[in-house]
Amino acid sequence: MADISIEKIIIESLALTKDGVGIFNRDDRLIYCNDAIGRLFGMSAEEALNKSFSELSADCFNSPRGINIEFTTLEAWLSHASAKRRSCPFRTFEVDTQEGKWFLVTEQIVHNDYLYMYITDITEKKANERALQLMSEQFQKLATIDSLTGIYNRRYFYEKANAEFNRSSRKNKIFSIMFFDLDNFKHINDKFGHAAGDAVLKCFAVNVQTHLRNYDTFARVGGEEFAILLPNTEKDNACVIAERIRASIEALMIPFEKESLKITVSVGVVENLIDIKSIDQIMNNADKRLYQAKSNGRNQVC
Ligand code: GH3
Ligand code: MG
Ligand code: MG
Repeated sequence: MADISIEKIIIESLALTKDGVGIFNRDDRLIYCNDAIGRLFGMSAEEALNKSFSELSADCFNSPRGINIEFTTLEAWLSHASAKRRSCPFRTFEVDTQEGKWFLVTEQIVHNDYLYMYITDITEKKANERALQLMSEQFQKLATIDSLTGIYNRRYFYEKANAEFNRSSRKNKIFSIMFFDLDNFKHINDKFGHAAGDAVLKCFAVNVQTHLRNYDTFARVGGEEFAILLPNTEKDNACVIAERIRASIEALMIPFEKESLKITVSVGVVENLIDIKSIDQIMNNADKRLYQAKSNGRNQVC
């Protein structure tokens, strides 16, 4: 059997490998490539061979195949790519194709200013990364959102309130907190059932949200207890908003099965005074105000 040269074995192996190998000469013309590189540019190896990098880019830009070029003009893409291409002896980056594949690309400047290009399919790795990211976002959401009402939960509220307390102490800013407790809520559960109570809680949350600015933080901090953190808001202004919410809750008709349920809410409003040392102290004060509203006959802001 005749001896076969190492070069020939390498060339034959490269043609068969799943990874892509290509060589561009110093004029940026593709003088060698295997099938995988052809596919990266949306064509066969034969079609890609002897094309310049600009021609390969133009083919991708004008067809629904090959590298995904998210530029409005081909010129903009070429100027972007050529600023990076050959900018250093070795570089790696990721590209995606219009067919939805992802590749890790390595470019190395070799002998005579030739550019050696090596690509590996990382589509599966990218899909796993995306799934993990989605899962982590989902966990993040579950950790901060109340599942019944879809608004923030107690944990998130305290985190946010502590951060606001620190920020406003540093910057000498004012903020207010409203503390809500639905009146005689147990009665709704007892008379119409737990599902009716749940419907009331959801409806309450939806209604209150319509009164807020997007930098206010509204959370369910207990069973039928809610709180709102209002940055840059003095108590007098917070009381006006609280009164607006109270009146709008009083006017609310909450449909449940054949019934139309009515509720009221008591509200305690406080602001961060200079002598206050912690968010717990502020929440205690809010709780005292709320208690006062309850003992004065409920359905009121204190
Ligand atoms: P008050 O005016 O003094 O606040 O009276 P209240 O009846 O609202 O207060 P109480 O603390 O006696 O009752 C609160 C009730 O809220 C008791 C509890 O069963 C109910 N509750 C707490 N969480 C939920 C929930 O997620 N869904 C429903 N349906 N009820 C809940
Ligand atoms: Mg309560
Ligand atoms: Mg209550």
